[in-house]
Amino acid sequence: MSDNGLLNGKAKRLNLGGGGGGGGKGMEYLLAGTLAVIIVGSLGFTIWKFFGGKTGPSGPTEMHFKCLKCNAEFELKPEEIPQPSEQAMYGPESMFIDCPKCGAKQSCLPMVQCPNPDCKKWYLPEATKFYATNPAAAPTEELKDVCPYCNTDRIQWYREHRPRR
Ligand SMILES: [Zn+2]
Ligand SMILES: [Zn+2]
Repeated sequence: MSDNGLLNGKAKRLNLGGGGGGGGKGMEYLLAGTLAVIIVGSLGFTIWKFFGGKTGPSGPTEMHFKCLKCNAEFELKPEEIPQPSEQAMYGPESMFIDCPKCGAKQSCLPMVQCPNPDCKKWYLPEATKFYATNPAAAPTEELKDVCPYCNTDRIQWYREHRPRR
């Protein structure tokens, strides 16, 4: 319950950005909040997309997961992914699914694909692991979401490549 409130609070704070408020003092907090929302949001969106968003024209049809217990990496087709309850979609627990390899419950996290077009490898970011296992922790910028293969910073990459409105 308290987790939901935490997330909602962050979302609200982000929404007030429209007025072009001035000043660097709030920026740091806003930035940290943005990071958390990007990480949590991108996961949620990915999951949502595969459950029925049907927006991807030719994206990968499988999602990649990694088990924190046995370190197995595996792919699941959208229809094979156990659907989280509606409430869980808004909480960090929605990231976890049961492991088909070792049978551990709620032990697997979705991996992300490196945005670097020359790399495109799948990996499990440290930040994802951290937020999944410490849902109440405050976001910090120290948790980099970096590809272990080519060192692309996913957050930084999206910042530089995100579509302009
Ligand atoms: Zn496992
Ligand atoms: Zn990479």
